[in-house]
Amino acid sequence: MEKVSLRQFTKAEKSAFYQSKYEYYSFFTFILMTVACISYLSFFLTDCSIFGRFAYETLFSRLFILIPYAIFIIVGRNVKDYRIMAPLNYLMIHIIIWCTDWATYLLPDRQHAISGMIIMHLVFVCAGFAAPLKYSIPAHLLMIVDIAVADLFIHYDNLQMMYLFNLPCIFAVCITHIVMQKVYLEHYLNKEKLKKLVVHDQLTQVYNRNKLKEISNDSSELVVFSDIAVSMMLVDIDYFKRVNDDYGHEAGDRVLEFLATSLKDSVRVTDFVIRWGGEEFLVLMPGCVGEQAYRVAEKVRAKIEETDNGVCPITVSIGVAEHTGGDYHNTIKNADNALYDAKHNGRNAVVLYKGEVLKAEK
Ligand code: GH3
Ligand code: MG
Ligand code: MG
Repeated sequence: MEKVSLRQFTKAEKSAFYQSKYEYYSFFTFILMTVACISYLSFFLTDCSIFGRFAYETLFSRLFILIPYAIFIIVGRNVKDYRIMAPLNYLMIHIIIWCTDWATYLLPDRQHAISGMIIMHLVFVCAGFAAPLKYSIPAHLLMIVDIAVADLFIHYDNLQMMYLFNLPCIFAVCITHIVMQKVYLEHYLNKEKLKKLVVHDQLTQVYNRNKLKEISNDSSELVVFSDIAVSMMLVDIDYFKRVNDDYGHEAGDRVLEFLATSLKDSVRVTDFVIRWGGEEFLVLMPGCVGEQAYRVAEKVRAKIEETDNGVCPITVSIGVAEHTGGDYHNTIKNADNALYDAKHNGRNAVVLYKGEVLKAEK
């Protein structure tokens, strides 16, 4: 597989990548923050052990974490945007660090602070799964600032050790973040490739039937276009079997590719060209009433008849129907009825369905 780097992505593509990365790991991050907060709370037991009694001095600082955690959960349930949630994950980690500093400040023995830092590095590693590098690296580097500020009131006995220990850890975690982002990029590209394959026809590169399922959200209605007119045209090559018989299947395939490209070039970029069956294409035209779709279909018919496709002259018959809401399968049936009439009118014709055959052109 060709090496792809994030640098080749446009801004919108990068954003889609980061959003996907965040969504993929969001449950993991939620569990991570929960476990980190529970660990922070459970260190009250070590406080009691240091004091040799119930450590009421640190109780409030330990319980305090439940407030930001509750806010984090509420926001996380309602906000799915990585640009808000990834920084919020990091804010939550820094809050745990600040609370740890607070509890440490209240403890008579502060030599264990460095052990707490190891756990925070692990939390940073895990949070990096869901965040862009441009967030995770600065967020982790801020840990050095946390240590410097905490030292102003904690006065670590071993400040130099704190830096000497944490700096290599931060460096190692940042390298891990870079590797993790590369690993997810590979996964993301494969996922996108599969998503594309599922809705595209491999021969003609236009959409296949699955695209209609995607547009209709697996329902029978075109919910996405509920406020606008939508028309459909069903395009079928006349006597295509003869093309295969006379020129071979491969030549037939070239003709199908030619028709798909001609259809894409003839309709709007907002229209959907779908390979509906062997030599039959469905074009979904949002924002187009039946009469307009009929005119486009007539242009398509004339263009196909006139253009040299490199194999042999072909013609198409087209059935057009306007979707008037409800089950879209009925509109396809109407377009199919119109197509049937076009075939019976001698082919190379366009018919607009209006309950009965109103127009037939040749
Ligand atoms: P009509 O004018 O009534 O539509 O006649 P027709 O010959 O086009 O229709 P018919 O349904 O009899 O034949 C369709 C042909 O399309 C038969 C089939 O071999 C061919 N076909 C279907 N899929 C493909 C494909 O992927 N490649 C090629 N080359 N041919 C295909
Ligand atoms: Mg045909
Ligand atoms: Mg057919």
